[in-house]
Amino acid sequence: LGGSISRALQQMSNATIIDEKVLNECLNEITRALLQSDVQFKLVRDMQTNIKKIVNLDDLAAGHNKRRIIQQAVFNELCKILDPGKPSFTPKKGKPSVVMFVGLQGSGKTTTCTKYAFHHQKKGWKPALVCADTFRAGAFDQLKQNATKAKIPFYGSYMESDPVKIAEEGVERFKKENCDLIIVDTSGRHKQEAALFEEMRQVSEATKPDLVIFVMDSSIGQAAFDQAQAFKQSVAVGAVIITKMDGHAKGGGALSAVAATKSPVIFIGTGEHMDEFEVFDVKPFVSRLLGMGDLSGFMDKIQEVVPMDQQPELLQKLSEGNFTLRIMYEQFQNILKMGPIGQVFSMLPGFSSELMPKGQLDSSNPKLMNESRMMRIARGSGRQIRDVMEMMEEYKRLAKIWSKMKGLKIPKKGDMSAL
Ligand code: GDP
Ligand code: MG
Repeated sequence: LGGSISRALQQMSNATIIDEKVLNECLNEITRALLQSDVQFKLVRDMQTNIKKIVNLDDLAAGHNKRRIIQQAVFNELCKILDPGKPSFTPKKGKPSVVMFVGLQGSGKTTTCTKYAFHHQKKGWKPALVCADTFRAGAFDQLKQNATKAKIPFYGSYMESDPVKIAEEGVERFKKENCDLIIVDTSGRHKQEAALFEEMRQVSEATKPDLVIFVMDSSIGQAAFDQAQAFKQSVAVGAVIITKMDGHAKGGGALSAVAATKSPVIFIGTGEHMDEFEVFDVKPFVSRLLGMGDLSGFMDKIQEVVPMDQQPELLQKLSEGNFTLRIMYEQFQNILKMGPIGQVFSMLPGFSSELMPKGQLDSSNPKLMNESRMMRIARGSGRQIRDVMEMMEEYKRLAKIWSKMKGLKIPKKGDMSAL
């Protein structure tokens, strides 16, 4: 996606006469790319129409940075689609709130319930989990396991088959126990859709949730709109969580879910683990969606700051996902010249420094140093251990980015503009 948008914009800036035809060609290219990212056809078409109204052809003809003008307009339009105009209900600490999770089976509800509970628990809430999925065998065990791991109280039953009854009892119990965030996990069976929606309606009626969260798998593609709408029609969906953003999907379905439910996305799931969960932020998400914006910009920067004879080797290593401390050391001075590090990485398709907070690092990497080794290095180099730790953090952050660049197509020397 980043590639084709960059190419479209490149075409734009190379054209000598900027007329409507060129703008159309450019927009068509962007349209194709957004459709590939699962943004709903109608949304893309509307956006295209809006852009044409916004982007003034005279500005383009006169202005030097046509590329930027169009890119900014597309970016703004996508941000607007993701903003439903009003924030979702936010639970208050110390005041009991009921939050019900809905979504199809496999979308990540049970996992996300725990992540949501854990996220709030860390901030001082007293969450509790209620398993109202009596349909799937093992549903209660799964929730119980997750809850136990996170030390969160839970409620459910192996015997009772009525989800409404369990939901009601669970909510009741946790209200008595003064829990302030009571989370109800539900079933999402595929078959008998009508029965599922009726069940959701009943659970909602019995538990009177303050907030209903629709959980959606980022990889469901163009089906996102209809699915979100179907849930919205049976229960009062007030927020959306998009899961599996760590996978290949760019998550364009999020725009559909917001449009269909008129509710904001509040979190995204970025892995199977409890803490792989991030507060949703529109701008970095749109950057990622657009593959923002430009690998070619990044390559330009590399060309600018890395000495010519070192470029092919560096790019080769990056494309192999082969990023070592030594490379970091060798390139650090060069990279620093590229401006604030976050700014540089936000140029990479699919990455934004905001999407990768420091706490999210892979700590299971066996190659990482332990504390005593870091201490020795600190002593040996006459530095504070804090400096060594900071360097390792930076390394881990970069290594993670580099590893995702694996397989990146690297053009032959002198042909970088192809990006
Ligand atoms: P449910 O049927 O809606 O309750 O879905 P589950 O919570 O059982 O999740 C289905 C599968 O998706 C499980 O294997 C989860 O580990 C996985 N999963 C959930 N969220 C994420 C995520 O953000 N990233 C990844 N990679 N996997 C996830
Ligand atoms: Mg489940």
